[in-house]
Order: sequence, then structure tokens, then C-alpha cells
Amino acid sequence: MPARLSTWRSSSFVRPVNPASMQSPPPSPSTDRFAVAPARGKRMRSESPTPHDEPEETRRVKCARPRGSRLRASPAFPPAEGKDLILRGSNTLLEFHADRQTVCDASPVLRSMISALGEREPGTIEIVQVEETEEILEAMLRFIYPKTRKPMLSSVEQLEQLLRAAKKYRIEAAFHTLGAAVLDLAQKEPLRAYAISCRHGLVEEMRLTSSHTLRVDILKSDLSHEVGDVKPVFMKKLVQLHNSRASQALKVILEAGTEEFTCKGEYCEDGVAEWWMEVMKRSRGELKSRPTSETIFNPAFLASCVRTAGKRCGECASNYLSLKAQHKLAVLKDAVDALPATI
Ligand SMILES: [Zn+2]
Repeated sequence: MPARLSTWRSSSFVRPVNPASMQSPPPSPSTDRFAVAPARGKRMRSESPTPHDEPEETRRVKCARPRGSRLRASPAFPPAEGKDLILRGSNTLLEFHADRQTVCDASPVLRSMISALGEREPGTIEIVQVEETEEILEAMLRFIYPKTRKPMLSSVEQLEQLLRAAKKYRIEAAFHTLGAAVLDLAQKEPLRAYAISCRHGLVEEMRLTSSHTLRVDILKSDLSHEVGDVKPVFMKKLVQLHNSRASQALKVILEAGTEEFTCKGEYCEDGVAEWWMEVMKRSRGELKSRPTSETIFNPAFLASCVRTAGKRCGECASNYLSLKAQHKLAVLKDAVDALPATI
């Protein structure tokens, strides 16, 4: 249950303040000094006259905060005209000023929390505290306010934290950005990205990242680290994809016509070139590990097969380099690329 920490009018520790009086001039986004302060030289409506000029910061604290409060307004979400809601995180040092309509529209969960506060008196500012850290809370608000800069993701752990928060508070606007980040991660760490997609129920990302995992030998990967807590059903799907693609890709290679791979060398005797025989022989193991076209159509792999064949046949290299053979290789590569590549 959300807790109504206070409203500006009813809090036991906040003196009555008309929020409108706090809005002029609007605070600079680059500073938190105007967090809940009256404009320079003005007093809040409820402020008692002071016998002498106190430093402005002191008066602000006196007017709007409990004595000794270390609360500051978030520089990214300062108070402003129309902002009638304050969100606080678990490590409460910052206050995030927002408008309840935008927040309610973006998050059904926050809407429920705010509604639970009961009838709102006109002109009051409500304060809602959430369990998230200020860093997560700020990121959530950046998703909620589409015109603000999206949060910078500095680690995979942070990405997961944000996904958890987006799911918990049902902030749909966050999933586009976070999903894109998961796909970015898949370029470098495909298994980890797949695991994250599974853990957070990102169906489309699960599908797309599964394709990236084809580059990885899942049997030799440290699965306990990468995908340790992924449900077995999702790992089973992934293994099925790898196995099925490996056998289909191998079929493409083994059943390919060999007319273009005919070598006139003495060893090959106008039969199938030894270098292609080598490719077929090695493809089984290679494709089982990483069932992608890059595994067997990359120049290094092919050159290695040609070198091995060259020890037996002096003509194999020229067949490999021939236009017809190269064209056939390109056709076969396309055929492997066209195979189903996602769960
Ligand atoms: Zn040959």
C-alpha cells in the first residue's frame, strides 16, 4: 500500500504552503537550489517574517522542509508550474516533481498508488514514496516523460533493474528503449541477452536474441553464469533451435550438387574436389557448435579446408578459386541463411 507521506497542506512536518507560490520563477533545471523555495526576495504566503535577513537557503528550508531535512529537488525533475506530485525513492535524498496526470497515464500501478491516497484537495501536492532507489525512480520518470533524455545504461545489472521496475509499475513506454538495449547486448553477449529476455518475458526480444545465440556454442558456454535461472522450457527451446538448424544446414551442404566442385587434379580424378570433401567432413562438427553460415563460409575455414586438400591434390585450389565454385558457395550460403533462425 502506498503511504501518503504528507500533503503540503496536511503534513505534520510541512508548514502549509500554496504550491503556486513556489513556482515563480521556475527553477533552473541545472540546479536544485530552487527546489521548493520562494522567488528571491519574496516570502511564501505562510512564512513568518524574520527579524533580519536570513540566508535564502535557510529560509527555504525553514519554510518548506522539516528542520535539518536533507531533501533536495531532483535537478532533472524540479518543481514547476502544473507539477502536483512528488515522488520519493527509497534512499530519500531527492524529490522528483511530476504531474499526476502524466504519471497516472503512464503507469497503472502508480495510478493506483496515487488513487489510494484518497480525495485530493485542490491546490495540494501529494507525495508518494516508492521502494525503488532514486536512480531507478529517475529512470522511470525519464521513460514516463518522453521528451526527457532516456536514462544512460551503464551495466547489465542496471538494465535488469530497470526492466524489473518497468514491469512492476507497468510502464509500457520503457519497454521499447529497454528492449532495444537487450538487442544491443545480444551483439556482444547473446546468451545473456536471451536469458534477460526470458526472465522478463520480452517475447519479441526472446525470439530475436535466440538468433544471435546461434553464433555461440551453447554446449561449451558457462550456462550456469549466463542463463542459470532461466526456466528449463526456454533453454529447451534454444537447444532445439540449435540442433534443428545444425541438421538443416548440414543437409544443405551434404545434399548440394557438386558439379561446380569438380576437380581435374590427379588425386581427385575429375570427381568431387577434395577441398569440398573436407568442407563436408568438417561441417558436421562446426555446424553442431555454431549453426550459422558464417561458421563454414568464412574465408578462414574454407582456406583451411583448401590447404588440407592441397597436401593431396595440387589442383584443388584452382577449383576452389574458380568463378563457378565461388558462385555455388554463395548460393549455398544464402540457402543456409534462409533457414529458420529463431525459436
Ligand atoms: Zn583436387
